[in-house]
Amino acid sequence: LKDMLLEKRYNHSLMVKETAVELAQIFGADVKKAEIAGLLHDCAKNFTKDEMFFQCDKYKIVLDDISKKQAGLIHAYLGAEVAKDLFGIEDEEIYDAIFYHTVGKPDMSLLTKIIYIADAIEPLRHYEGVERLRELAHIDLDKALIYQIDMTIKSVLKKGSLLHPNTVDTRNYYLSR
Ligand code: FE
Ligand code: FE
Repeated sequence: LKDMLLEKRYNHSLMVKETAVELAQIFGADVKKAEIAGLLHDCAKNFTKDEMFFQCDKYKIVLDDISKKQAGLIHAYLGAEVAKDLFGIEDEEIYDAIFYHTVGKPDMSLLTKIIYIADAIEPLRHYEGVERLRELAHIDLDKALIYQIDMTIKSVLKKGSLLHPNTVDTRNYYLSR
């Protein structure tokens, strides 16, 4: 993993691993799975854009139109395949946690939720609202999730980027519960 990632991304991965383990201990998820998923969630992050499309072809990942145009999303889908193929992680729950860590999905497993949130609150993250998100994450994962998605959507709008429908569906799902 260290060879595949830039130093900054590798350090982020270590911190997501630690944060995911902490959340898994608090909320009763499988700690070992949280450790592996946290560590590997960004394993495909530093591929070049060309390499990403090439690898997606290789793994037969069918990209939706938004993901094709918003290439920053692809590392998650590809990461799930790379974790399986290169790192030998066969576990379906870990696959899902990596696959959905950028766009989210409605009714996600506890592990997927933990990786999604740990990615945003690990100690190396600094942005407005992160302290509040960290607080929420230690009390109520669903509330944290909604808060995080709201921030994500705001930042996507601010950048004028495409918003993935999964993110909207996830927000609506958890807000309606
Ligand atoms: Fe990522
Ligand atoms: Fe990440």
